[in-house]
Amino acid sequence: MEKIRMAVKRDYYEVLGVSKNATPEDIKKAFRRLAKEHHPDRNHEDGSAERFKEINEAYEVLSDEGKRNTYDRFGHAGNGAQDFGGFGGFGFNGFGDIFDAFFGASAEAETAARPGSDIHARVTLTFEEAALGCEKEITINRVVSCSRCHGSRSEPGSNTSRCPECDGRGRVQRVQQSLFGRFTNIVTCPRCAGEGRIIEQPCSECRGSGKERRQHSVKVNFPAGIDNGNAIRLTGEGDVGEKGGPHGNVYITAEVQPHKYFRREGFDVHYDLEINFAQAALGCEIEIPTLYGDEKLKVPSGTQSGTVFKVKNKGIRRLQRSGQGDQLVNLRVLTPEKLTREQKKLFEQLLNSFNGGQPIKRKAKH
Ligand SMILES: [Zn+2]
Ligand SMILES: [Zn+2]
Repeated sequence: MEKIRMAVKRDYYEVLGVSKNATPEDIKKAFRRLAKEHHPDRNHEDGSAERFKEINEAYEVLSDEGKRNTYDRFGHAGNGAQDFGGFGGFGFNGFGDIFDAFFGASAEAETAARPGSDIHARVTLTFEEAALGCEKEITINRVVSCSRCHGSRSEPGSNTSRCPECDGRGRVQRVQQSLFGRFTNIVTCPRCAGEGRIIEQPCSECRGSGKERRQHSVKVNFPAGIDNGNAIRLTGEGDVGEKGGPHGNVYITAEVQPHKYFRREGFDVHYDLEINFAQAALGCEIEIPTLYGDEKLKVPSGTQSGTVFKVKNKGIRRLQRSGQGDQLVNLRVLTPEKLTREQKKLFEQLLNSFNGGQPIKRKAKH
């Protein structure tokens, strides 16, 4: 965007309508005339603000002998600066500063409606609640319009009068003397703060603020698959806006508790299963828990420790997509730590039946 705008940048002399040989006095005169003409306070035509910036920019360069020399030699690229997109060559930081300083704060911004503040809250969910989805009632402590004065800030039945300073308009004109001449600025009325009216008796409930804090309950639906740190947005449930602006939003962040057995990875659920090596050697059928109830898992004979079994579609429903993850069963074969006398005997027989106590041959990996 910036590059395109810069590519069609007009010649600064052309912008000010002066010749290349213009004296500093000519440039100053041309600038004052154009700045007045295109001042956005007077000129409400489309593009006048842009034009005004362009004029300021041209003046900024041409009124400075050093910058003007550089501009005459190198054009918009400035001091050989490679950066056409910026004003690095002339060493200034864009025009926001000049522009804003010139006008002061916009009167618009102060009197206009503004949305209320957002509220951030946290809620703790169990592993199952997050995985399967749930509905919870959440209490929000938010700022609302005062119930006594309905936000008018004035005691019901009392008078409000039109502000004499701004005659009810909320804004007053200020004539400002600046480097570039006299300008009329429109500012927020200091007496009524832009309200246009004077409250004679402030509301006794909110002491004239027009607001109060109230607890508010909402039912929040947490979709299946929500994960730790995910947030739900409740549009318009936040604090009341300023001067008729909309309510802010509420963001509720889920904190999901760890599970006794399960571990989540994406939409898959991991479960660690330990069996002894007789079970591993002979094979077995074992009941394992899943999010959806117990399931039988068949462990075939000769299963090695570290084998992962996949139980299809017993994971977590995918958020905003169809389908669901799997449950992954990570098998660990345990070596018995304590043996009865009889077990010890059996193991000795077992040992002899294998290879008489010699270590298992090293297997080459290839
Ligand atoms: Zn009130
Ligand atoms: Zn006023």
